[in-house]
Amino acid sequence: MNKKLKSPVVLAVAAHPDDIEFMAAGTLMLLKQAGCELHYLIVANGNCGSVEYDSNTTRKVRASEARRAAAYVGAHVHPSLVNDLEIFYDLKTLRRVAAVVREVKPGIVLTHSPQDYMEDHTNTCRLAVTAAFAHGAPNFKTIPSRPTHDGDVTVYHWMPHHFRDPLRRRVMPGAFVNTTSVQAVKRAALSEHRSQQSWLDASQGMNSYVASMENSAREMGKMSGRFKFAEGWRRHLHWGFSSREEDPLAALLGRNYRVSEAYEKRLNADG
Ligand SMILES: [Zn+2]
Repeated sequence: MNKKLKSPVVLAVAAHPDDIEFMAAGTLMLLKQAGCELHYLIVANGNCGSVEYDSNTTRKVRASEARRAAAYVGAHVHPSLVNDLEIFYDLKTLRRVAAVVREVKPGIVLTHSPQDYMEDHTNTCRLAVTAAFAHGAPNFKTIPSRPTHDGDVTVYHWMPHHFRDPLRRRVMPGAFVNTTSVQAVKRAALSEHRSQQSWLDASQGMNSYVASMENSAREMGKMSGRFKFAEGWRRHLHWGFSSREEDPLAALLGRNYRVSEAYEKRLNADG
């Protein structure tokens, strides 16, 4: 009888060890406060994220950074599956991601934007979406083998890097989450990825990755017209994932969630 009131399990599927802290950790902290159990699957181990250390060392450093960052939200971190730049939309990886989905039985899956600046992100998005789709399909086999689960799943996409698609076009969010109350904790969680300071500086000219996250959250807040700091989201079409259309983030986050009317309006426009 109380089943309906139980907060859903949330699975965040990211490409790299710091992606969640950049784009989604604020929302996850609020979901934790709302009683959700949180899981992270970071598909690649982060081994390319260094110009100083070799692959093995980088992988180990980044795994411990990811665990420390996840501890801020109390998320369970599942083992990574492949190396950086080796995330492909292939059958073996899909079966492995689908096994995690079936193990965790999420009601909500959070992942990258279908359009983003690099292929690890877009391939991770595709893997997460199909793995979520396959949660109730017994003839799709997972590695390791896991039984299907019957619940509804709602998929949300966080915003692409710098809110742009790979062709430089602006991507607008469909909903905003007010992360102001957890912004300091989000900052602390991202700061755990210490190895990334010199890497992001060298590779992307981000002289302070924490300040960069802060600016993005402030920009999203401004865009919301209501919140000081925010994260943006787009909800996936529900067909095949859920028996009916739902927006569980709205129910869980209440006043900290705002649907963009402009976005909803555009969804129904022709062309
Ligand atoms: Zn990434």
